[in-house]
Amino acid sequence: MFDISNIDAIIIIMNNVDKSFETINIQWNLPYPVKKVNKHTVIDLIRFTPGGITRVELAHQLGLTRAAITAIIDELQAKNLVFETKRKHGNGRSPIILEINPDGGKVVGIEMGATHITYILADWAASVLSEIEIPFNIDDGPENGIRVIDENIHSFLAQSGLRISDIAAVGIGVPGPINMEYGMVNAPPIMAGWDRYPIRNHLQKSWGIPVSLNNDAEMGALGEWAYGVGRGESNLAYIKVGTGIGAGLLLDSRIYHGTTGSAGEIGHMTIEENGPICTCGNRGCLEAIVGGHAIANHAIQAVRSGERTALSSIQPIDSITSRHVLAAAKRGDLMAQRIVIDAGRHLGTAISGVINLINPSMIIIGGGLSQMGDLILEPIRQTIKMRSLKSSLQVVRITQALLGKRASAMGSVVQALSIVLHQPSNNK
Ligand SMILES: [Zn+2]
Repeated sequence: MFDISNIDAIIIIMNNVDKSFETINIQWNLPYPVKKVNKHTVIDLIRFTPGGITRVELAHQLGLTRAAITAIIDELQAKNLVFETKRKHGNGRSPIILEINPDGGKVVGIEMGATHITYILADWAASVLSEIEIPFNIDDGPENGIRVIDENIHSFLAQSGLRISDIAAVGIGVPGPINMEYGMVNAPPIMAGWDRYPIRNHLQKSWGIPVSLNNDAEMGALGEWAYGVGRGESNLAYIKVGTGIGAGLLLDSRIYHGTTGSAGEIGHMTIEENGPICTCGNRGCLEAIVGGHAIANHAIQAVRSGERTALSSIQPIDSITSRHVLAAAKRGDLMAQRIVIDAGRHLGTAISGVINLINPSMIIIGGGLSQMGDLILEPIRQTIKMRSLKSSLQVVRITQALLGKRASAMGSVVQALSIVLHQPSNNK
């Protein structure tokens, strides 16, 4: 009863969540038996359908018979991967929905930023069990960086009485273009010394469990799509505005990497032709104007020129960081707020380009700057209104990341869970 015309839809759903599949050329000659494809797809529909999904809905979505769905669910239940429960809300009849068994095991999702690392411990239903953020300096290079990541995962797990051998898989997002095949970054603008360092292999060898290495902004897009504000959207861009600026693009319900993993590098779009030099070597990139270092520099210059601001109490002046600026803006410091508003306008200009290019239904602003809320969102919205095509503008919603600082680490949780839930033989 399986109809080949359904396969396209199935593959699209699968590709939302498991990048390992994306390296496979999806043609009609499927690399997997249809049964296995169906099983993965059923698992993913159970994971990602808001409000849960029933057997009847599964059969309908996949164009399979009830009997075929029953066979798959029986197998998943026998492996303790899924269980049945009543839909929690709604009046009257509460249908039986399928859910992932949270007690199946645990995974860790990691976001490695330029100045911090976030670890999230989650169960198989992606519920967060604990999390921690530690300071980090990406410029210390890969040997030191990997050592810090390694040491901290052990102490983080120990707080929950766990060891790395209790974890089924780890997902990690890093701020650079990813070579998916080799598990390394490819010529990253802000990860000095990390180029082609075998991050994934190093961690896998040291931990003895599967590791998925990904781009941090793409993980933000995935996290928000799976559990955040982007649920149910097919075309969205997650813009991560931190020390670096990058976008994760979800197009036709799949993460779009580009040919060499560099898609979405919105931070290196030229905003001012003769602007300041960027870490990538170009002039006037968005990141050189509104990235973390640029935000700090704008404030330092303003203090030097004698502008009234609470930031002038920070000594030496050079030690002012973007965090200081954002904190001051939140407290109502007018100079700091002006810097944030200017950043919003520049971001809006770059995002208008993204909107005109990919016509998304949602733009999600994440990263440190997104915590400024409307102070940053309003100038972005106003600029987009001025600069985007009307037909795109009518449908696009500009919003803050619902998962906040967790977005990328939650995307990494999704990736780790995709490894384990698609390979039940690896279950722990
Ligand atoms: Zn650049």
